[in-house]
Amino acid sequence: MKIFAPKENDPKETRASLDPAAVAKLVGLGAEVVVESQIGEECDHPDASYKEAGATLTTDRVGSLGSADIVTRIRKPSDIEVAQLKEGAIHISFLDPFNESELLAKFAEAKSTAISLEMVPRSTLAQKMDAISSQANLAGYVAVITAANRMNGIFPMMMTPAGTISPAKVFVLGIGVAGLQAIATAKRLGARVTAFDVREEALEQAESLGAKALRIDLGETGGTDQGYAKELTPEQLQRQQEAQAKVCAQSDVVITTAKVFGRKPPILIKKEVVDSMQNGSVVVDLAAETGGNVEGITPGEETVSDNGVKLVGLANFEGQVSKHASQVLAANFANMIEHFWDEEKKALKIDLEDEIQQGCVITHNGAVVHERFKD
Ligand code: NAD
Repeated sequence: MKIFAPKENDPKETRASLDPAAVAKLVGLGAEVVVESQIGEECDHPDASYKEAGATLTTDRVGSLGSADIVTRIRKPSDIEVAQLKEGAIHISFLDPFNESELLAKFAEAKSTAISLEMVPRSTLAQKMDAISSQANLAGYVAVITAANRMNGIFPMMMTPAGTISPAKVFVLGIGVAGLQAIATAKRLGARVTAFDVREEALEQAESLGAKALRIDLGETGGTDQGYAKELTPEQLQRQQEAQAKVCAQSDVVITTAKVFGRKPPILIKKEVVDSMQNGSVVVDLAAETGGNVEGITPGEETVSDNGVKLVGLANFEGQVSKHASQVLAANFANMIEHFWDEEKKALKIDLEDEIQQGCVITHNGAVVHERFKD
């Protein structure tokens, strides 16, 4: 079975879907691994390290796409590249399936099996292949480091002969995987952290990390069986915005990470709240790439509001620590392939009765097979 890892199409993408350690693991399973030359250029893995791990390097991207049994990549492919896959090929990547119905149709047309990393179930068994978590964890870390870097002050309290510097006040909105890491990182740097989420268990997790939980009575909020938050009603959202406005105004750093699975992230910080914040304070929006939690933030850009608030809407935060992001992402790919590896046939077995595959296999045998996207 031939596994091909192409270089990413997006020039801003710094991560690689496979690193040398993952290559070695897959070669150990009995797979032939081919990677596009310079795939690891931006994450400190030269071609030689892939070769040493047992991969073949190629510059023939189209030929390799057309001959591979499995393609691993981070971002979704173009329509043209889907058509270049060979019939029956398995393509594993982030796919944004809620917004890409035409792309899913192209996969079905090409008779290839599309596996969406976003749709891997959030279960204990699937944790080792959960790329959303492995990347969100690093994004949460980078959000805090970025904020600390942009702030013209320090995070920890310092008592010096020249006076006392107060600890930075950090407010984390959304306490999922990224939010928890943001809290832990900000605490390690000595900040005073407040956090809010619509899920009570998330507030308790924040408290166990030493943050102060902001509790807002929103009435029934609910969640999905995967542990995701449900979308709030407009009234609940307004109540939340009002209740957290004061905390934002007093914070040196606000980090937003709130997402609602399969939908646009909610706007949690309106322009008037940004207007009420102190000059020099920093807002980092981890949801910016998919629409943002903060009014006025520009996805992919850093701007400054009229009252001097630094608005950081950068995309691909995890890409700033591309070596470690690639390490855990590549491990997710290799773990998935290993989990479904058929020892005898030396091939990845597609079994639509399997619980994990039911969650993340979107197209197979010329059709969209996933329940949520069939229509
Ligand atoms: P996410 O990225 O989808 O969302 C981030 C956070 O935003 C969530 O905590 C969500 O509750 C919160 N949020 C949504 N609307 C909000 C609002 N209006 N205000 C404030 N916060 C809001 O979440 P995620 O990090 O992908 O995690 C989702 C869930 O999956 C969590 O419960 C997590 O513990 C769980 N999880 C389970 C496993 C596992 O069992 N293997 C692995 C990873 C995550």
